[in-house]
Amino acid sequence: MSDYENYAKGSPLEVKVISKRFGIPNSASIDVYLQHDGYKALQKALGMKPDDVINEVKNSGLRGRGGAGFNAGMKWSFVPKQSSKPKYVVCNADESEPGTCKDRPLMEYDPHQLIEGILIAGYAIQSQQGFIYIRGEYRYLMEIVDRAIEEAYARGYLGKNILGSGFNFDLCTHTGAGAYECGEETALLNSLEGLRGYPRVKPPFPAVVGLYGGPTIINNVETLSNVPHIILNGAEWYAKLGTPKNGGTRLFCLSGCIARPGVYELPMGFPLRRMIEEVGGGVLGGKKLKGVIPGGSSCPVLTADEIDVAMDYDSVAKAGSMLGSGGVVVLDEDTCMVKVAQRIAKFYAHESCGWCVPCREGTAWLKNLLTRFHSGAGVEDDVDTGLDVALNILGKTLCPLGDAAAMPAISIFKKFRHEFEEHLRLGRCPYEKRTVSVA
Ligand code: SF4
Repeated sequence: MSDYENYAKGSPLEVKVISKRFGIPNSASIDVYLQHDGYKALQKALGMKPDDVINEVKNSGLRGRGGAGFNAGMKWSFVPKQSSKPKYVVCNADESEPGTCKDRPLMEYDPHQLIEGILIAGYAIQSQQGFIYIRGEYRYLMEIVDRAIEEAYARGYLGKNILGSGFNFDLCTHTGAGAYECGEETALLNSLEGLRGYPRVKPPFPAVVGLYGGPTIINNVETLSNVPHIILNGAEWYAKLGTPKNGGTRLFCLSGCIARPGVYELPMGFPLRRMIEEVGGGVLGGKKLKGVIPGGSSCPVLTADEIDVAMDYDSVAKAGSMLGSGGVVVLDEDTCMVKVAQRIAKFYAHESCGWCVPCREGTAWLKNLLTRFHSGAGVEDDVDTGLDVALNILGKTLCPLGDAAAMPAISIFKKFRHEFEEHLRLGRCPYEKRTVSVA
C-alpha cells in the first residue's frame, strides 16, 4: 500500500479533478506533472488577457476552499489595476482546522498543480511575487514544495520571462509556527511580515492593502489547485461539475466514527447522507449516527435527522451549518456530545490570540465550564450560562475565530440539551471515556 492509499482509500463515486494525479508514482516531480498536462494551462493563460483569466475564474463558480467560500475570481477582480506598490499572491497553506487534512495531499502529491495555479493567479493580477505560507506542523511538506519550486525555476516556469511571455514571477515558501490564528488572512500577512500573528482590522481588505501595504490576493491551497483545470477546460465545464454558484468538485475529509475515513473528491452538492453511507461505508461498526460536523470543528453540528443536505455552500448554510473547510466529522450513538463541545472549546481557548475580550475571556469560560460539567461537577444553570457565553462571543469579535468557537458550542447546547441533563442526573458522563477526537 502506498502512502497515499493509507489515508485515501478511493471511491467509484469520486470525480477526480485536482486529485487525479494522486497515487501516480513520483507524482510530485515535474517530469510526471508534464506527462499529465502539466503547465499547459499556464501556457494558455499567458496567451490570454489578464482580465479574461479573472473572468474565466469568476464565471467558473470557484469559491474559496479555505472556509469562507467567497468567489475566487471576484476576489481577484478587487485588486487595483494600477498600484504604486508591488502586488502579491499569497497561498494560505496554514491548514489547521480540526477535521481537515486536504491541503496536505495536494502539496504532497501534486505541488506543481499548486505552483501552476499560483502562477496563473499572479499573471491575472499582474503580480511578480508569490508566497506559500505553510503551517509549522507541515514542515516535511516544505521540502517537497521547495523541491518542486526549484524544478519549476530550472525548467523556466518560474523566474524571468516565463515561457518567453515577458511575464516574471518569483515564488518561495514560508513556515508558520503552528498558530491556528495565522490561517486568518490578515494574521497570516502579519506573520509573513515577521510580526506577531494578530489579525488586522478590515477594511482595508488585503486585495487593496495587503502584504507590505501592497494589493494582495490570499487563496487556499485547494482553491489555487483548481485554477489550472478551469483555464484548461473552461469556466463552463468547471461550473457544470457542481451546483449553481458552487462550481467544481471539493475534497472532503471524512473522519470520526466512519468505516472508511479518507480524503475524497466529490462534486459540489454531493448529498451528505450518500457521502457517509456510500463513500465512507457507513458509521463505524454499524452503529447509529448521532450527528455530523459538516465542515470542520468551527461549524454547527447537524443531527442525524438533518443530513439530507447537498454539500455545497448555500445548501449547508440553509440547513443551519457551514461547508467550511470540508472536514466531515461523523459522530456515532456512543459519542458524548458534552465531551465533543468541551474538546472543541479547549482547542479554541488554546488558539485564541487574546487580542479581543469576548474571544479571549469567552473561550476560556466555555472551556472551563464544559470541562467542569463533563467531569460530573456541573450545575443546572450551566447549560444556559454556557449558551449565554457563546452567544456573547458570536458576532462580537475582531476575527472569525470567536465565531468558530461559539457556533459549534451553541449548536450542541441547543440540539443536545438532553445529554447535559443526563450528565446532571447521573452526576457523571454516561458515555464514560468513549468520545470522538475532534481537536
Ligand atoms: Fe484574537 Fe480571538 Fe479576537 Fe480573533 S477573535 S482577534 S483570535 S482574540
